[in-house]
Amino acid sequence: RDNWTTDSRNGQGFKGHGMIAPFTPGWQIADVNPLVIEKSEGSYVYDINGKKYLDSLAGLWSTSLGGSEPRLVAAATAQLNTLPFYHSFWNRTTKPSLDLAKEILEIFTARKMGKVFFTNSGSEANDSQVKLAWYYNNALGRPKKKKIISRLKGYHGSTLIAASLTGIPALHQQFDLPVPFVLHTDCPHYWRYHLPGETEEEFSSRLANNLENLILKEGPETIAAFIAEPVIGSGGVILPPATYFDKVQAVLKKYDVLLIADEVICGFGRLGTMFGCDKYNIKPDLVSIAKALSSAYVPIGAVIASPEVSDVIHSQSNKLGNFAHGFTYSGHPVACAVAIEALKIYKERNILEQVNNISPRFQDGIKAFSNSPIIGEIRGTGLISGTDFTDNKSPNSPFPPEWGIAAYFGEMCEKHGMLVRVSGDTITMSPALIVSPEEVDEIISIFGKALKDTE
Ligand code: PLP
Repeated sequence: RDNWTTDSRNGQGFKGHGMIAPFTPGWQIADVNPLVIEKSEGSYVYDINGKKYLDSLAGLWSTSLGGSEPRLVAAATAQLNTLPFYHSFWNRTTKPSLDLAKEILEIFTARKMGKVFFTNSGSEANDSQVKLAWYYNNALGRPKKKKIISRLKGYHGSTLIAASLTGIPALHQQFDLPVPFVLHTDCPHYWRYHLPGETEEEFSSRLANNLENLILKEGPETIAAFIAEPVIGSGGVILPPATYFDKVQAVLKKYDVLLIADEVICGFGRLGTMFGCDKYNIKPDLVSIAKALSSAYVPIGAVIASPEVSDVIHSQSNKLGNFAHGFTYSGHPVACAVAIEALKIYKERNILEQVNNISPRFQDGIKAFSNSPIIGEIRGTGLISGTDFTDNKSPNSPFPPEWGIAAYFGEMCEKHGMLVRVSGDTITMSPALIVSPEEVDEIISIFGKALKDTE
C-alpha cells in the first residue's frame, strides 16, 4: 500500500466532531478524520489546508454550473434583499415560485405536463410522488391501488418512503425497511445480470416480463406506480439496456400503472439531453427533479405532474379535500430565484451543446482504461460515468471486500488531487457540466495514476 492515508488530510482538529454525518462510516467514533472543504472555484474545491481537488462528482452529482457562478450568487442576494421568505400555503405565494413553475413546465418537453409542486430535496419529491399517486387513486375511487414498484439498485432518497423506494439493502437493514407497500423488481444492469448468450433486447424483454408477472401476482388493481431513474446514478451509473424503457412502458400502460421518472440526477443536461426522459423516449406521468435545478446552490426539488394527475388533484378536491401536503419551504423564493437563474444560464450558454461536445473526450478517455486487469466494466453517457472493479473481467468474480480495492482507488485519487465517489466496488463520476477540455484531461490523467497505484 501507498503510505498515504486519510491522516494526510490534516483535519485532525475535527476529530470527534459533534455531527452525525450522512452515510459516513464510523461517525460515532472519535478518530474519524474528515476532509473539510472550505472553498470552491469552477470544477475545483479546496480543503481547509488549501489543497485543491478536481471535484469529479460536482458535489453530489449536483453543482452543474461549478462552484463559483456569480449570477447565482447575485440572484440569491437580490431575492434576499427583496423578500427573503414567504410561503406558498392557502392561496398565498410568491412571484419567483410562480415564475419557476412556469419555466419548468416549458422546458420539460418529453410530454406536455400540467403542474409543479415544490419540495426542498429529491427525497421529499419522491415522498410527495407517493402521496400524489395515492391521492389520485383515492380520488378515482380505486382505494386498493397503492403499491409502488421500484428497481433494485435504484436510488430515490433516504426519508422513510424514499429509502424504501431505494433498492439498496444498506438503506433498509438498519431501519426495518422497505415499508410493505413498496416492491422491488430487477436491476437493469446488462453486464452484471444477463444470461449467457442473452442479447440486450432479450434481457430487456425478460425484465419487462418479470415486471408484468409481479404486477399480475400482486393484482394490477393494487399497483399504483413504478418509479425509475432514466440512468441509475448512486446505484452505480447503470444505463438502460436497448429497448428497456419501451417494453417497461408498454407493461405499465397495459395495467394502468403511473410512471414516475426520477430525474434528480439526469435532469438538466447531465446525459446531453435536457432530461433523461428525452434520451430514452420516456413519457412519464410524474417527474422528480432537484440537484441541478438550482445547481445545488440552495436546496430545492420539485414534482412535475401530468395533466391527468394534476387535473384529478384539482377537480376532486371538493370530494377529498385539499391536497393536504406541503412544506414550510415549498417554493422558497430565494431557492426559486436561484433556480430561475440557473435555468436561464443553461439556455443562454447552450449547456446541452457543451455537454455533447465535451462528453466524447470524457467518456472515451475513461473507457480507454477498460483493459486494466482489475476493471470489469466502464460505462457512461454524457457527463456521468461508472467503473466496476472486479477480477477476471467477470461480474461474478468480485475482489474480497476486505481488500477495499475501490476505496483504495478513491484514496489515491484524493492523494493526486481529485474527488470521486466510491460505492462498494464501483467508482462514479459526474463532473460539473461546465467542465473544460483541460479539466477532462486532468480527470483522465489522475484516474490513470490512481489506477496504476491500485493495480
Ligand atoms: N433521487 C435520486 C435519483 C438521487 O440521486 C437522489 C440523491 O442523490 C435523491 C433522489 C434524493 O435526493 P436528496 O438527497 O436531495 O433527498
